Amino acid sequence: MKQSNLYIPTLREVPSDAEAISHQLLVRAGFIRQSVSGVYSFLPLGRKVLRKVETIIREEMDNIGSQEVLMPALQPSELWEESGRWNTYGPELMRLNDRHERRFALGATHEELITSLLRDEVKSYKRLPMVLYQIQAKFRDEKRPRFGLLRGREFIMKDAYSFDIDPEGLDRNYDAIYGAYMNVFNRCGLNFRAVIADSGAMGGKDTHEFMVLADIGEDTIAYSDESDFAANVEMAPVKVEYKKEDMPIRERVKVETENKRTISDVAEYLNVTPQNCIKSLLWMIDEKPVLVLSRGDHEINDVKIKNALDAEVVELATDDQTKEFVGCEVGYIGPVDVPDEVKVIADHAVEYIVNGVCGANEPLMHYQNVNPGTDFQVDFYDDLRFIEEGDPSPDGKGTIVFARGIEVGHVFKLGTRYSEAMNANILDENGKSKPITMGSYGIGVSRIMAAVVEQMHDDNGIVWPKSLSPFDVHLICVNPKNDTQAELGEALYAQLKRNRLDVLYDDRKERAGVKFTDADLIGIPFQVIVGKRAEEGIVELKNRQTGEKAEKHLSEIEAYIAQA
Ligand code: ATP
Ligand code: MG
Repeated sequence: MKQSNLYIPTLREVPSDAEAISHQLLVRAGFIRQSVSGVYSFLPLGRKVLRKVETIIREEMDNIGSQEVLMPALQPSELWEESGRWNTYGPELMRLNDRHERRFALGATHEELITSLLRDEVKSYKRLPMVLYQIQAKFRDEKRPRFGLLRGREFIMKDAYSFDIDPEGLDRNYDAIYGAYMNVFNRCGLNFRAVIADSGAMGGKDTHEFMVLADIGEDTIAYSDESDFAANVEMAPVKVEYKKEDMPIRERVKVETENKRTISDVAEYLNVTPQNCIKSLLWMIDEKPVLVLSRGDHEINDVKIKNALDAEVVELATDDQTKEFVGCEVGYIGPVDVPDEVKVIADHAVEYIVNGVCGANEPLMHYQNVNPGTDFQVDFYDDLRFIEEGDPSPDGKGTIVFARGIEVGHVFKLGTRYSEAMNANILDENGKSKPITMGSYGIGVSRIMAAVVEQMHDDNGIVWPKSLSPFDVHLICVNPKNDTQAELGEALYAQLKRNRLDVLYDDRKERAGVKFTDADLIGIPFQVIVGKRAEEGIVELKNRQTGEKAEKHLSEIEAYIAQA
């Protein structure tokens, strides 16, 4: 394509509303334009990148035998009422009425529509397994649309749905799609982790999120520096072998600690470490008081409390509730002599504290030399704390580090959630009717484009990986008014095209500086610069990523690009 004809409106200034670097660069380099908050047009360069992402996804999905469909964005409310989500989805679901006052939603996701599509036609187990997918605009009225393509209100998603007769079949499809997703994100050149995201069963295998490591990410992930273990910080199990310090158990004493309430203040005042303190907080768990203990330097994870007690509602007790049940204010409470109605549970680390410090359930007072089992009893010990950087990885390999992540994909075992609600049944081998077992799988297609830019850019602009670059080569004629340069430029353009390279040819009558600045901003991996030595058939080749430049004869260009 000749750049003189192509619509690439580059900007020198950073748009004032763009916080994320990917948002700034994609607007400045002329890939996208905002229409209203969270809604974007893809300009020619943006459309080309999007198409490359889509092609990679199609190849990988087709490769595992799944089939592409295209469902409507406009969905009747009745389907959402059948699943119950018309009421539970909330204001994110965009709703509208037609001229007959019939209610519709714009698809935020397509579980309902696809279930209705299959239930009337697929009646026998012989038709399964099956995986259907589509690539399409999704609508979600996000509370905070931001960061450009990272969180839009209209965005492109690839969604897929699997259909099986039993959970074993679902496991097979899930694994196949998981594998396809790994290939997709690897081919997009992303540094990512597949993260355990299950909130129900700790460390379960029923849902994974694919997280691109980037500071702008909204989630924190804990991953091993040596293995492929990665989990959402809320979900990561803690597996540490604690040891008791080898010292004689001393007699418990009550000490006055003035108005010191926080662990660090108390520890400093009593000249002990936070590791030697027992942090005690009262929680109301399904309306019953539970005292939860952790080591002073650890944080309790309420999701883990919820799982440990199989509870519905987990909240911290109010000051009044704390006074009512343990007779004292937060800051001085502890596990010694708590009333029978208060259950006491503790994180594993607490069991290994020797001669520790805890609140005495009296204003301004703490105990020293407190020992679990001797001075207080615990209903049970469990893994109740957040994992921390420096903890051993739960798979036994390496050490945990934290990073921020952008979710680019999500795989999820639905089971019979939708098929039961919507009567999508099949007959199994024995002629028995049962609900179809389903899975749901999403990739943020437009979000990938932004995530790639978050990871691949420098001070001058975007640095596209070869697999997603809008063009293979950026051919730049420094001075098209010079006949030799113009002729060589045209000849090279024709030659590269003949050899099936997709070339952006900067034939504009702009100053050289403008062209170089634009080229770096746009970020095509190779620049071929036709300049002063055109007469000798010598051009300059620049690698956008490394910045390396080399003079080459035009006969050498293709070989150079092929091996780079
Ligand atoms: P998030 O937690 O970021 O809101 P989600 O859990 O709601 O995402 P899913 O329902 O799993 O997302 O959708 C599948 C994929 O679609 C996500 O993994 C993400 O890549 C993409 N996606 C979701 N919401 C948006 C959005 N508002 N803008 C762009 N992409 C999105
Ligand atoms: Mg998700």
